[in-house]
Amino acid sequence: KSFADLGLNAWLVDALNALSIRAPSKIQTACVGPILNGQDVIGSAKTGSGKTAAFALPILQKLAEDPYGVFALVLTPTRELAFQIAEQFRILGTGVNLKQSIVVGGLDMMTQALELSKRPHIVVATPGRLVDHINSSPNAVNFKRLKFLVLDEADRLLDDNFADDLEVILEHMPKRRQTLLFSATMTPEISALQFSADAKPFVYEC
Ligand code: AMP
Repeated sequence: KSFADLGLNAWLVDALNALSIRAPSKIQTACVGPILNGQDVIGSAKTGSGKTAAFALPILQKLAEDPYGVFALVLTPTRELAFQIAEQFRILGTGVNLKQSIVVGGLDMMTQALELSKRPHIVVATPGRLVDHINSSPNAVNFKRLKFLVLDEADRLLDDNFADDLEVILEHMPKRRQTLLFSATMTPEISALQFSADAKPFVYEC
């Protein structure tokens, strides 16, 4: 199958071609269709599998149809991963006028708060810093129009260090949304996570 066969629009296929990415990886072949169809997804995936594009491509396609509000929140355990994810959104999203905000520790709180108040399309965050913003002001981020919550490296996000932060963040998410969860390993905590869509999540195991 080609990227077009998976249901991706020409402008995204062009962006992929510009990066010399011509054939979807396994996780992309499995997950892009279900995400475009509105399903929640649980994917087991290691770094290097192309998992970032597996969620970034369908999110960008949906975003282009309805570019309002904070559209997607991507949570990831480390600053480095946050920057890598934002970079992939940037290079794949050149066809839309993408506004992103990276919300991680070590960057200036005030600058981030100002960015967040301008309602970026995509927020890529580590949990601790995002909770700092939520606690600093109840209106720090408006997630009312959020369509996608992505948990990248979910096994690490659900461990004890992040559990409390994650709970606070989940309380601020709208109930109607798609949840996309990617993890190197499947743990009981992941299976127990509440999914929001009415239908069962699509599960991909490599
Ligand atoms: P990830 O697994 O998301 O960390 O991606 C690893 C690298 O693979 C990134 O630099 C992507 O640009 C690249 N990549 C993503 N999808 C593909 C693909 N279908 N074919 C070749 N490279 C890809």
